[in-house]
Amino acid sequence: DARHRGMPIACEACGFDFGRAYGPRGQDYIECHHRTPLHVTGETNTRLSDLALICSNCHRMVHRARPWLTIEALQDLVVAQRSAG
Ligand SMILES: [Zn+2]
Ligand SMILES: [Zn+2]
Repeated sequence: DARHRGMPIACEACGFDFGRAYGPRGQDYIECHHRTPLHVTGETNTRLSDLALICSNCHRMVHRARPWLTIEALQDLVVAQRSAG
C-alpha cells in the first residue's frame, strides 16, 4: 500500500536500505529481531521497543554464534570493520 510508504526503513545496525538496494521489490522490507530472547523473558507480549529492525545480513550475524550479539555490539562491529577496511 503506497500510503504506508515514505518512511525510510533502514537497518539499525548497518543502515542497509532494501528499498534503495532493490527498488520496489525491496521497499518496506526489514527483519524484526527481539532484543531480549523470548526464552529469557518468557513473555508472550512483545513490546515495540523490544524489537530491532535489521537487515538479513545483520540478523544472521547476530544469531551466528552464542552469545547472540546485541544490536549495539553489532553496530560497533560494523563501524570498526568499515574504518578498518
Ligand atoms: Zn544491517
Ligand atoms: Zn533475531
